[in-house]
Amino acid sequence: MPRPISAHISRSALSHNLDVVRRRLRTAHAAGQPTKVWAVIKANAYGHGIERAVAGFAGADGLAMLDLAEAVRCRDAGWSGPILLLEGIFEPADIDVVGQYRLTVAVHHADQLAMLHQARPAVPIDVFLKLNSGMNRLGFTPDAYRAAHRELLSLQAAGTLGLVGHMTHFSTADTEEGIAAQMALFERTTGGLAGPVSLCNSAASLRYPEVAGDWARPGIALYGASPFADESAQELGLRPAMALRSRLIGTQTLRTGDAVGYGGTYRAEAPMRIGVVACGYADGYPRHAPTGTPVVVAGTRTRLLGRVSMDMLAVDLSPVPQAQVGAPVTLWGDEGLSVDEVATAAGTIGYELLCAVAPRVPVRFEE
Ligand SMILES: *Cc1c(COP(=O)(O)O)cnc(C)c1O
Repeated sequence: MPRPISAHISRSALSHNLDVVRRRLRTAHAAGQPTKVWAVIKANAYGHGIERAVAGFAGADGLAMLDLAEAVRCRDAGWSGPILLLEGIFEPADIDVVGQYRLTVAVHHADQLAMLHQARPAVPIDVFLKLNSGMNRLGFTPDAYRAAHRELLSLQAAGTLGLVGHMTHFSTADTEEGIAAQMALFERTTGGLAGPVSLCNSAASLRYPEVAGDWARPGIALYGASPFADESAQELGLRPAMALRSRLIGTQTLRTGDAVGYGGTYRAEAPMRIGVVACGYADGYPRHAPTGTPVVVAGTRTRLLGRVSMDMLAVDLSPVPQAQVGAPVTLWGDEGLSVDEVATAAGTIGYELLCAVAPRVPVRFEE
């Protein structure tokens, strides 16, 4: 028998979450053209698997990612709609792949413009010019934006490029600060220029659907996790797309003062039973999750004890005295335990935990 850990990915949860985001966007644009959705599937679809995401997001208008190999996998999996490369091309040779697989590319740097000048694609390439509106990660500064746009229009006139759109990325859509300053700069910089517009990640799609423009780019919400610290996935109507499950493979009875795990960081304050779960940091469970991080054993919520090991972690069986070896364990994504709660306890965000699930964890793709 293999180790009893497994990740369960729900196809229906992926498509349900896409519908939730789409409904928000549609309600805000009841009168005008509905906002199209690029389902963001970077980082192996936030750990859910590219092919599974292609199946779950069959109703999306497009798919967005960073990695050319992942884009090719989408085409191989039968996806024929638009694919956006969020970081664009990395070297001139990428242009051949872009042409062959009909990929849309972000253009965020002068080096990419230079590569496009050398390109002779068989069919014109669709591009989105990226504005750095304040995040200071990727994109042309407002001062350089219009000149870059003029260059793209000349490449369009020469037949190298097809569509020329505009995009930016919000850094504080999930906080009090919001998007107003970045939005104002985007509008000032792109004012009067033609072409489709793409602005909103999950947080902005859910909180500011009225600004969404032609294409939204939600990621995390589609996997059933919340982009917000102050609003849960459940409150947003989202369903977890991944459940990480395992079983107890051992139990111990501790006397007062007995320690648990490496470093003996947890000591029993009274006699107690503990369970040992087949899940460790080599499975992607965060090693920095402290004592008290929630875990569900046999349907009952309990807590992690001591340090997470490579292959195992320990849990308090006081609330589940009947639990024996073989008892089912949910690490996150089911039985009311969200990945966001576990992430918060571990001082990180759901994104990181989902992306980190290790290749050694067997995945079951379910309806
Ligand atoms: C990751 C990413 C997104 C999606 O962000 P979420 O917070 O997961 O919704 C959208 N746009 C860009 C450019 C990204 O890098």
